[in-house]
Amino acid sequence: MTDTMTPEQRHRCMAQIHSKGTKPEVKVRKWLWSHGYRYRLNVKSVPGKPDIVMRSYRTAIFVNGCFWHGHGVREAHNEKLRIKNEELLQDSSCCKIPTTNREFWVKKIQRNQVRDQENYRLLQENGWNVVVIWECQLTPKRIEHTMREVELLLNENMLSLYKHHTPIPYSTEEDTPLPMAAEGTTE
Ligand SMILES: [Zn+2]
Repeated sequence: MTDTMTPEQRHRCMAQIHSKGTKPEVKVRKWLWSHGYRYRLNVKSVPGKPDIVMRSYRTAIFVNGCFWHGHGVREAHNEKLRIKNEELLQDSSCCKIPTTNREFWVKKIQRNQVRDQENYRLLQENGWNVVVIWECQLTPKRIEHTMREVELLLNENMLSLYKHHTPIPYSTEEDTPLPMAAEGTTE
């Protein structure tokens, strides 16, 4: 960001960074869409406000940034490292906690982790399947593999719906309207 931006432009730029629809989530959406999957975004009626909701699969997808959601960070086991309470986390390869103000960041990330777990639990209690996709799984090298795994999960979730419940009739009003041409993009 440079000083050539007007305050208004800067505001819009910042708002974009913090708003929903960040890059990793867009990658997932694009993949799903181009493979014929239809979904809803940020459905408020679903607990935990998942990033992507696929009602016909009874599946809620979260696309998590590795830093903010503390991907792979673990509580430190070294007693010497335990300062004050037990709020110390170990870095992981994709979540490096800043050394400056480290306690602050650890607390923040831990809070996010706790909230994530609560959301997942709440969803599962309400009969939803939860799929978590991490930012680091969406690099050009990994995205195809990751999304194929997600696809498998979706199919399993669909199967279990038919096994355990009366099938939920497919409801078009729950899904984004799509042009007929999009049908042809399915592999
Ligand atoms: Zn990660």
